[in-house]
Amino acid sequence: MAEPKDMKTNGVAAESEAPAAANNFIHNMIDRDLEQQVYGTRVHTRFPPEPNGYLHIGHAKSICLNFTTAQKYGGKCNLRYDDTNPVKEDVEYVDSIEADIRWLGFEWDNLLHASSYFDKMYECAVELIKKGKAYVCDLSAEQIKEYRGTLKEPGKESPWRNRSIEENLALFEDMKAGKYGDGEKVLRAKIDMASPNINMRDPVIYRIAHIAHHNTGDKWCIYPMYDFAHPIEDAIEGITHSLCTLEFEDHRPLYDWVLAELAWPNPPRQIEFAKLNITNTIMGKRYLKALVENGEMESWDDPRMPTIAGMRRRGYTPAAIRDFCERVGVAKSNSLVDIGLLEHCVREDLKAQVESRNVVLDPLKVVITNYPEEQTELMDMENNRENEAMGGRKVPFSKELWIERDDFMEVPVKKYFRLFPGNEVRFKGAYFLTCNEVIKDADGNVVELRCTYDPETRSGSGFEGRKVKGTIHWVDAKTAEKITVRQYGYLAIPDENGDNVLNPQSLVVKEAYAEPSMKEAKPGDRYQFFRHGYYIADEKLSTEEHKVFNQIVGLKSSWKK
Ligand code: ATP
Ligand code: MG
Repeated sequence: MAEPKDMKTNGVAAESEAPAAANNFIHNMIDRDLEQQVYGTRVHTRFPPEPNGYLHIGHAKSICLNFTTAQKYGGKCNLRYDDTNPVKEDVEYVDSIEADIRWLGFEWDNLLHASSYFDKMYECAVELIKKGKAYVCDLSAEQIKEYRGTLKEPGKESPWRNRSIEENLALFEDMKAGKYGDGEKVLRAKIDMASPNINMRDPVIYRIAHIAHHNTGDKWCIYPMYDFAHPIEDAIEGITHSLCTLEFEDHRPLYDWVLAELAWPNPPRQIEFAKLNITNTIMGKRYLKALVENGEMESWDDPRMPTIAGMRRRGYTPAAIRDFCERVGVAKSNSLVDIGLLEHCVREDLKAQVESRNVVLDPLKVVITNYPEEQTELMDMENNRENEAMGGRKVPFSKELWIERDDFMEVPVKKYFRLFPGNEVRFKGAYFLTCNEVIKDADGNVVELRCTYDPETRSGSGFEGRKVKGTIHWVDAKTAEKITVRQYGYLAIPDENGDNVLNPQSLVVKEAYAEPSMKEAKPGDRYQFFRHGYYIADEKLSTEEHKVFNQIVGLKSSWKK
């Protein structure tokens, strides 16, 4: 059946193939390491989240990269909580992180906590002091900043830089024993205050914080800084390739310095890749947390959120997200990925596997004046045009129907082939109908269309008497299932200055009519709503009596290669 031009079709508009994954420079480096037997035949990666929020699509990128890299080389991937900051670890976050990684389709080889290495880190710090490579400094945080210099000027050495090893050992032990208050003293690496790389200008490696830790309780009042802790964590776990985002590139010399000074055999290699940024959304746990806390979003798994939990509830599939991460590939420079590519991946994954249903989102009543009062016919509908094996179903048709309000125009514009007074259109899978009369309320709003049908034109009867240009879908009014549909706009849109702001139209709730088979929809079931897009029965809001659907993605793509 040839579809008319102005109809949003069931099929996806022809989309050119998405770009193949960028040549993976990380795998090229690993290949070289394997060739040179740097780590023998081992490849061991890790995903190291801080348990301070829900994971988002940016983390999905890192998860896919770390786990698939391990898979590709028959290696291992650890899940490591990067919990060296003594802030309260939230069980909710920990549980969500594990659920999200598993949902994406990955399983870690080891589940570890960076905080369980505090003893070893302390020993490492003592070792540096003993080598004359670390010292206790009494400068305040502001002074340290002041002494650090700038990109153009070298820094100034701390007056405490040349304390004796014995004094440093004693002071560091006193720091550990709780003799000083927060910020009174720090331990610094003794590197080079004139280094062109500011990270190498005697960075702080231990600080005092009288805060209990969720894992170690009150045992410690000194905590290691990220740049000192991370290489040691990786080294302890036997990580071979430590993949991190680009902002750590300038920290790599320090990462390497720490392990070299500790004479760590076979130290891991840090490799940086560009962070994933996507248009029309908001990323960063800090911002997402604020959206939840200030009530802009209903929860961390609000279907508008770019969190893995939000995308899951929205109806995105793990396969689509993995495909997206693969297509984006890894890059050495930051870029902004069109959110349309993510939607394209979702559509591609769903189009051949979900069944189609008729749903009217903006209902307008149609009465077929020449249709028998008590009659109901069961019309054959295919479940999926792209996949014949998915069979078909029977859909009731009777005298009163619902159609989309915008499938009617009282005064049609040019090239409008759908319903208008005097025009005949195909009611998909049923009959040809002609609109004869328009009923309005006292305010002049159209409330009902009176139509006639031609019994000769029944779908599947082989009728070839004449053609019509428009085809529309419909729902039988007598048996319709009332459902709630949540239509989503982008989370963020550019304002007049081009800055991303929250989209006030990110959620539009509609009361809609669906064909009666929708009574059977279970939470989590996905469908294509014919001519509208893909939808999922919401897991939280749907009840046995009343189904609530989330729009997953529309049919048409705005995404261009
Ligand atoms: P956020 O800024 O959203 O809080 P984060 O980097 O602070 O993110 P972590 O929990 O520290 O979050 O990150 C865990 C891992 O995820 C790190 O290895 C980090 O580099 C990676 N990661 C975080 N955001 C992105 C992103 N947008 N693209 C790719 N990887 C990311
Ligand atoms: Mg962080």
